[in-house]
Amino acid sequence: MELLESRIAEEGRVYPGNVLKVDSFLNHQVDISLMDRMGEEFYQRFKDQGITKIMTIESSGISIACSTARHFGVPVLFAKKSKSLNIGKDVFVSKVTSFTYQKEYEITVSKRYLGPSDKVLLVDDFLAIGHAMKGLIDICKQAEAKIAGIGICIEKGFQQGGEELRKMGYEVMSLAVIESMSEDGTITFR
Ligand code: 5GP
Repeated sequence: MELLESRIAEEGRVYPGNVLKVDSFLNHQVDISLMDRMGEEFYQRFKDQGITKIMTIESSGISIACSTARHFGVPVLFAKKSKSLNIGKDVFVSKVTSFTYQKEYEITVSKRYLGPSDKVLLVDDFLAIGHAMKGLIDICKQAEAKIAGIGICIEKGFQQGGEELRKMGYEVMSLAVIESMSEDGTITFR
């Protein structure tokens, strides 16, 4: 998506550890009109698939999930990272290793909101190693929900997540795929 690529080229900053910061428009300050355009791209690709929910992980996936869900007219369901005692045992649980913080955490989704009659589109702001997506896939499997596909704003193509998920048979639609990036600010797209 040209619009997204040009924003990344203009505003992206590369940090040690292969971290790209785009928090001027994607995951800290949020450009809602860009989000809306990205949500529409996902809608055009997946609109005929009978999607019932847009699923992501809190917190940075929530804004793209909301703008995508608005086009589909379905709810957003985001996996929670914090353990809420009052949800009790009625949750699906999976473990995810955080790319940006390098630690393992649990994600939970209430059994009330996901089940065999659901067909979900998984979305996130970034795809790197693929742990976040695999956690969501695990939860969908536990719930026996179907997965229509995966929508990603920025895939770092030099990391293995995208390739692994495609090999697993999932349709991964990434709006920008970064081929390489370096700390001097050079970013190339696939
Ligand atoms: P993965 O689980 O695929 O390794 O990483 C995806 C998750 O880590 C996303 O939810 C995203 O929030 C975060 N992440 C991964 N790489 C980057 C990055 O380069 N920049 C930012 N801002 N977040 C990232």
